[in-house]
Amino acid sequence: MSKIEFSEEFDFENRITDTSEIPEDVVEGDNPLRPKSLDEYIGQEKAKENLKVFIEAAKIRGESLDHVLLYGPPGLGKTTLAGIIANELGVNLRITSGPAIEKPGDLAALLTNLNEGDVLFIDEIHRLSRAVEEILYPSMEDFAIDIITGKGQMAASYHLPLPKFTLVGATTRAGQLTAPLRDRFGVVLRLELYTAEELASIVERSAGILGVPIEYDGALEIASRSRGTPRIANRMLKRVRDFALVMSDGVITLETARTALDKLEVDELGLDQNDRRMLEAIIKFYNGGPVGLETLAAAIGEESITIEDVYEPYLLQIGFLSRTPRGRCITAEACRHLGYDFPKGTVNALPTQPSLLDGQ
Ligand code: ADP
Repeated sequence: MSKIEFSEEFDFENRITDTSEIPEDVVEGDNPLRPKSLDEYIGQEKAKENLKVFIEAAKIRGESLDHVLLYGPPGLGKTTLAGIIANELGVNLRITSGPAIEKPGDLAALLTNLNEGDVLFIDEIHRLSRAVEEILYPSMEDFAIDIITGKGQMAASYHLPLPKFTLVGATTRAGQLTAPLRDRFGVVLRLELYTAEELASIVERSAGILGVPIEYDGALEIASRSRGTPRIANRMLKRVRDFALVMSDGVITLETARTALDKLEVDELGLDQNDRRMLEAIIKFYNGGPVGLETLAAAIGEESITIEDVYEPYLLQIGFLSRTPRGRCITAEACRHLGYDFPKGTVNALPTQPSLLDGQ
């Protein structure tokens, strides 16, 4: 089977709709656009409401907050929320990630350096090794770890009490977590893709911080093309700002936003070349589907995990893709948008939402 060729001018490294953090998102190691308090944090009302109660209760009891698991696609504000939790509790935040904690000793060093009540944020927590997970369980439950030093007859075991900390774990798919780890989180919150109106508020807030004049229609246009993801919305805002300088004295209007984003090859629904090629592959090579994830990944030369974490959540959300037990299927709406006839015989199953058990 043939691979789809990508046009040469397409810049994968600089993909504006990339949901992972890139250097241009950060200024001098800090991100001034990150909200610092729950009130500044726009959207995710359900998660916010729950957190508010738990934080308040922890403060009243004078205890540390229960461990929190945040899950949802990249760029939706998990790291930001961890920072907010620490801020609201008035404690320090330590940030690390699953792959960065290689050995049990690395985790022990992190834990023993925490102060009472501190928040430890572990991004990509599903990527912790089993050996590290083994010492994380007792730390989360009993706030103590047992360390064994030396070998053979010289071996000695020490019981090391730890400060009562709050672990905030983040993962793109909660289903990839082992059950014992998942069970040790008292609070489990799922972050949803944002609505265009919520993203427009985020864009207006960010424009205010960056000192960029913006009209509401311009903010809404950026928002509607941001795939429900604040990280993409903020990045688009920064790129549109340059077009606005040249086109309309620096003011981001509907027209400048439209022109800029068309030039960046992001269509009015936020789809870029990668999405289009993936959807076209399903139509052209697999007659609309179903097609298995691995097969599809090989066809478009992409990692299957990238398809699952980055492309699919949004395409499922807007009803362009459906997931069936036999694989991915295109929908009639997607064909209409891309200008194709809906292939005969395609199973047009109801679009499915990613769930807690995704990835299992
Ligand atoms: P994640 O950890 O889920 O990948 P981040 O917390 O790094 O995502 O968020 C990405 C960026 O999006 C942040 O730098 C922040 O500026 C912005 N952001 C995320 N959520 C919100 C929100 N609810 N309100 C305003 N800005 C947000």
